Amino acid sequence: MTGSRHILLLGGTDQARQLAGELADDPSLTVTSSLAGRVAEPLLPPGRVRIGGFGGVDGLARWLREHRVTAVVDATHPFAAAISANAAGAAAATGVPLLALRRPGWTAGPGDRWHPAASLEAAAALLSAPELTPGPAADRRVFLTTGRGGLAAFAGLPQHFLVRSIDPPGPPLPARVEVLLDRGPFTLEGECALLRQHRIDVLVTKDSGGTATAPKLAAAREARIPVVVVSRPGPPPGVPTAADTAAARAWLHGLRH
Ligand code: NAP
Repeated sequence: MTGSRHILLLGGTDQARQLAGELADDPSLTVTSSLAGRVAEPLLPPGRVRIGGFGGVDGLARWLREHRVTAVVDATHPFAAAISANAAGAAAATGVPLLALRRPGWTAGPGDRWHPAASLEAAAALLSAPELTPGPAADRRVFLTTGRGGLAAFAGLPQHFLVRSIDPPGPPLPARVEVLLDRGPFTLEGECALLRQHRIDVLVTKDSGGTATAPKLAAAREARIPVVVVSRPGPPPGVPTAADTAAARAWLHGLRH
């Protein structure tokens, strides 16, 4: 190790990579970024990286003790609820300070036709709602951008799906599906062209926040198509939260060890 304070940075997001880069030159810190190992060719943050699960709360707590971690920053995706709960449990068990880094969610503006959904299952149910678009619900063409992890919720539906994901999704898939392998950041021009080319009627997204994948929302507004927005799960109770990397760095510098 170089610096005397060891930070575990739970990652898998742009924000986590950004924070790892910003902390890399601090001689008082050793930062280890952790990735789940879901993506075949992950974008690696600068500095030390470990890949793979820890083995639940107990495994993570063991890792924190064995590697003498002095603080944990949970910069995982807002929808990665299991690892965030594990981080809260392991921090409580070991007394290691924990911060959740969560970029703000998106907010609807004038011209947006957003339909909130509490879960992927609720989003799937909304796709058959008569008020969403004119014409038969079963004929809708849906741009599904919720990631390959939650496709089972949409598998039994009759609509035509354009699924965008970084790696190919596995079964169960909807019967009528086209897969587009791509990774952000995306552009407004590209997203508008995609909606036109695939004659998309409805966009489905998680409320991920951030700029890399936000152009699809502006493209949907321009095309006047409805957007089904899956709401975020809440952060684990009692865990302090920072909205950006500057606030996370301030929190780290405010710790005594
Ligand atoms: P999840 O359901 O919250 O976590 C499932 C399990 O994966 C955890 O219990 C943990 O295994 C392992 N894990 C997750 N993140 C990890 C990390 N950063 N380092 C080490 N182990 C990790 O997670 P998920 O929703 O499948 O997301 C997996 C990763 O992809 C996360 O790191 C997240 O930041 C990133 N990601 C997720 C989404 C999304 O929409 N969910 C979108 C973009 C990126 P153990 O219990 O064995 O420790």
